[in-house]
Amino acid sequence: MLHAIISDIHGNLPALHAVLESLDRLGAERVVCLGDVVGYGAQPAECLRLIRERCASVILGNHDAAVADRTSIECFNSAARAAVLWTRRALSAEDIAWLAALPYEDSPGAYRTVHATPDDPAAWSYLMSDDHAEELFGFFSGPLLFYGHTHYPMLFEQSGSAVACLGAEDYTPREGVRCIINPGSVGQPRDGDPRASFGLLDDSSGRFTLQRVEYDIPAAQGAILDAGLPAVLAERLARGR
Ligand code: ZN
Repeated sequence: MLHAIISDIHGNLPALHAVLESLDRLGAERVVCLGDVVGYGAQPAECLRLIRERCASVILGNHDAAVADRTSIECFNSAARAAVLWTRRALSAEDIAWLAALPYEDSPGAYRTVHATPDDPAAWSYLMSDDHAEELFGFFSGPLLFYGHTHYPMLFEQSGSAVACLGAEDYTPREGVRCIINPGSVGQPRDGDPRASFGLLDDSSGRFTLQRVEYDIPAAQGAILDAGLPAVLAERLARGR
């Protein structure tokens, strides 16, 4: 079965539409979401509705938690904080209750999912290095963990005691290795490529491919500016940073 792994949609409806169209075209049968459906973008309610319709599994991201008042926004930068406060007003009480009930982790296939890191999912740490990945392999069992949060596609492979950061574009695991994979961000990529990012996993072969799709960036930017959200949140979409 082909699983689509999506993360960090952040209220960007044009990007989510483009990704859902693409994964349908590619034949994905199960859609799994790694959290941060809302925050930053101007269409959180529309994104939530689609995610609830389409995803077999959804876990809690830090922005979802902030909107649902399950985590402090003290460590958020001013634009992120403004977006959390705006998003609370843009969502219904029912939407917020749904976000508040999301789990930190799930196992929607022969793999585990977490938004940030498996050692302490509520600490919202950012996994960006081999050394950190090496530590985190000790905090889950099984061959594969998906995470999001950094908005940066990455793949760490553990073979014996060695951990290496490999390209996530097209990867098939060898016998006996374990992996931690980030499929990048749908709605706010930060790796310098502004296209929406997601992953496809063929659970029979274990092959993972990273998918990038163009979307209507000016439409997402216009919605952010029209909503009165900070302009920096619109500008960064064009840069993919
Ligand atoms: Zn995020």
